[in-house]
Formats: sequence, structure tokens, C-alpha cells
Amino acid sequence: MSERPSYRPETLAVRAGQERSQFGEHSEALYLTSSFVFKSAAQAAKRFSGEEEGNVYARFSNPTVTMFEERLAALEGAEDCVATASGMAAIMALCLAHLKQGDHIVASNSLFGATVQLFNNILSRTGISTTFVSHTDPAAWAAAIRPETKLFFLETPSNPLTEIADIRALATIAHAKGILVAVDNCFCTPILQRPLELGADLIVHSATKYIDGQGRVLGGAVCGPKKLTEEVFKYLRTAGPTLSAFNAWVLLKGLETLKIRLEAQAAGAASLAVWLESHPQVARVFYPGLPSHPQHELAKQQQKSGGAIVSFEVKGGRDQAWAVVDHCQLLSITANLGDTKTTITHPASTTHGRISPEARAAAGINEGLLRIAVGLEAVEDLQADLERGLSRLG
Ligand SMILES: *Cc1c(COP(=O)(O)O)cnc(C)c1O
Repeated sequence: MSERPSYRPETLAVRAGQERSQFGEHSEALYLTSSFVFKSAAQAAKRFSGEEEGNVYARFSNPTVTMFEERLAALEGAEDCVATASGMAAIMALCLAHLKQGDHIVASNSLFGATVQLFNNILSRTGISTTFVSHTDPAAWAAAIRPETKLFFLETPSNPLTEIADIRALATIAHAKGILVAVDNCFCTPILQRPLELGADLIVHSATKYIDGQGRVLGGAVCGPKKLTEEVFKYLRTAGPTLSAFNAWVLLKGLETLKIRLEAQAAGAASLAVWLESHPQVARVFYPGLPSHPQHELAKQQQKSGGAIVSFEVKGGRDQAWAVVDHCQLLSITANLGDTKTTITHPASTTHGRISPEARAAAGINEGLLRIAVGLEAVEDLQADLERGLSRLG
């Protein structure tokens, strides 16, 4: 790990982690090699035994991947980072590295859909069980703790309602019982929220979203103190879902513009949220940056801004929401988020479509709800695109 003087995030984003080769290249090199050669039999033996640091095989490490890991660790203020093939691989690796048969997870009831499937359908088969509790009620987390509880897992703000989980309060509850706290920091990224400073033990990322930010590659990461990431590394090295060098190179360059992208996208989201809140065809807006958000004060304490995701309910139901989507000519109709291109989704019929209507209603995901992940287009153009559908509803 290179020296990390107290540079500001914008400096770390373009400088941290870079290792130049003998050629002195200015931009980070992409090392497309699956294995590495040794100078001698003795050196090979030392590399394999761990006596000498260095690359052996790309499932263990690759210099381009290492540069990405060091840069992301620097931005998160983490001692270490291990990169993974995708966000889901990061969550799987974290769980299998730190949990065993009989262990129990307490998790937020508004997690990314595939994370819920992973806990319920895959980890459950290994004898690791999960209790889902209210995202916003720390007392419910405390009440769900069992002697075998080893992990609190959360994601904040939640998708699509942008509810905020109180990381500091949950960390205090967990640490009193020796439980680890992992935060999926995909929506905020270290630019807007630094979970380790709020007491979390581990961070997972889907780098596919804002870190790439341009919808090109899949990737993920686990960040935290070395004593915890070391276990994740051992799992990855053996089980195999490591990040490809090419994707690491794309993501490394993605990190360089993350701050200016996300700040511009969040500013766009804030203006759009204000405009939507005053729109006669909009019943309600969900955006942590709005004073009307029930946890606006908590959001201000733990995030630098409201982020770039805005959800809103149109008056009426599915027909009205679909009309808004179908009149869009600019916004992309896709469930992805974190892209420079603004996306629009109807959660009740897509990302949350497999949940029963009763469970959906209980979670507050109504038929009139739409989620927008704001990109880098001019806000006026986004408003005009949404207005095309909204103006027909009156
Ligand atoms: C997309 C996403 C994931 C999964 O990431 P992949 O890179 O698609 O595997 C996990 N958590 C959140 C919050 C996400 O948005």
C-alpha cells in the first residue's frame, strides 16, 4: 500500500494507487496477463510461500486490479480493498469469508433484490439464516439479535424510496454484541458517504454503478481494515470471482471523474426533486435532500448531499406512471442506475415485480411510483421529457 498523505478526495481519485512500470507511462497501464514469471526457482518458491510479495497468478492479484483497489481504499478511507467480479460477488465473498453454518444475519428489509435472493435462497442452503427488519428503526435491529448473529447488513439510502438507515446507531448496537456491520455504499459512493467513519466495519460496492458511471463493465469491491479484508481475499483467491484486469482499468479511470460526475448528477437530482414536488400531477417525492424527506436531518449528518436518485409518485396508479415512462424520448427505460445517461424505472412492475402486491404495499412501493437515476443531461431537458407525460395526466 503506497503512502497516503492527507490529499483531498479529488486528488486521491486521480493519483492514489498508481504504480508506474519501467516505461514510465503517465496513464495507468492495463496488464492483460493471467500469470507472472519469476527470475528463478528460488523466487518462485518465495512468491508461492508468501515470503516475498509479488504477483503470481491473476486470480490472486494483477497490478491493474491492485491500482484500482488502492485508489478505492484511499477514497473510502479504508486500510484495504479487494476487488470482485461484480457487486453480488462482493456481497457473496464478504458473507462466505466471515460467516459459517449456523450463523445469523440481521439485514435491512429494503435491500437490492439480488441481495435478498442471495440471503434467502443461497446462503440459507449453507445454514446461514437472515432476519429482515425495518430499515429505519434501530430498535428492531437490536430486537432481532440472537446469540448466533454475526453480521448486520444494510444499504443506505434504500432503493427506491431513499429511506436512510442510521449507520452510527446501528454500529453502536452491533458492536455492543461483537457483531460486524457491513454497508452497501453503492448509491452514495465515498464521495457522498464514508461508512467507516460512521462506525461500519466493512463496505461493499457494486462498481458497476457510479464508479464506472458510464454503463460499460461489471465490478465490485469490499473495503475495510486488512484483518477483515484478508479473509475476503482468501475466499476470492480460492473461489475465483475476482475482477478482470480490463474491468479494473475501466473502473480505475471511472474513479478519476467520480466526484465531478456524482456532484453534478446530485445537483441535477436536487433541482428535479424540487420541480417534481411542485408539480400538480405528482403526489409525493422521495429525495433525502428535500426538507420534506422524513429523515432529511439524518441524511444531512451522514451524507454530503441527497445523491442522484429521485423517486416520485404520480397521482393515479400504474396507467398514469406507465404513461409518464412511455412518453419519455430522452430518459432511458432501464432498471440500471449510476450512469451519465438518466434512467427511469417503474419499480412495482420491474425491480420489485416479483414481490407480492401485499408485501409491496407494506414496503410503500405503490403502483404510481417511478424512480429516476439522474445523469448528466441538462435538467431543463429532463423536465421537458417528464412533462410530456405528466401534462397528459391532468
Ligand atoms: C446493482 C447493485 C448491486 C449488485 O451489483 P452487480 O454489480 O450488479 O452485481 C448490489 N447492491 C446495490 C445497491 C446495487 O444497486
